Amino acid sequence: MFLIFLGPPGVGKGTQCKRVVEMYGLPHVSTGDIMRAAIQDQTALGSQVKSYLDNGQLVPDQLVVDVVAERLRQEDCAEGCLLDGFPRTIAQAEALALFFQQQNKQLTGTLQLTADKDEIKRRLVERADKENRPDDTPETISERLQVYEQQTSPLVEFYEQRNTLHRVDGMGTPDEVFDRIRGVLDLL
Ligand code: AMP
Repeated sequence: MFLIFLGPPGVGKGTQCKRVVEMYGLPHVSTGDIMRAAIQDQTALGSQVKSYLDNGQLVPDQLVVDVVAERLRQEDCAEGCLLDGFPRTIAQAEALALFFQQQNKQLTGTLQLTADKDEIKRRLVERADKENRPDDTPETISERLQVYEQQTSPLVEFYEQRNTLHRVDGMGTPDEVFDRIRGVLDLL
């Protein structure tokens, strides 16, 4: 099962993805986690991407596409994985579609997690307190929300047109949201 999780920063993607990978035994491919680890480990990739993450901007498409392609070629992703935070632009989505086509693989579904704006801001502030992520400052939070609106939200229509989009209401407790996600995944 190849899944994409779409949704703005703060909608609860990270929390829900963790539960999904546990329950369905899928490798969790989070581009944000991969890049944070690269920065932490001071690799070449880390130094290339650090300023983008610090400023809440998107890393250039080609860099991210290469990182994901390399990860998807690994053995554990042969039968499926959960993509978290990728794709984030139409160009990335097109590159992913081409990759799947070349590998004779098929996207199983795209889950779009939604929540209203006030709730998203509240969750981001809460996460900033808890996790101490350097890109959770008020300035970068608002930059990342804007980047999502402009560059990532067009993916909703992209996947709608390909009949793979499933909307999931992300309001409520993590348990309530996870039950809704399970309801969708069990039908796929
Ligand atoms: P996330 O943990 O998914 O919120 O990602 C944190 C940051 O990593 C983003 O604000 C971007 O700077 C970068 N990033 C993660 N995934 C991507 C992607 N698919 N394309 C471009 N930049 C990304």
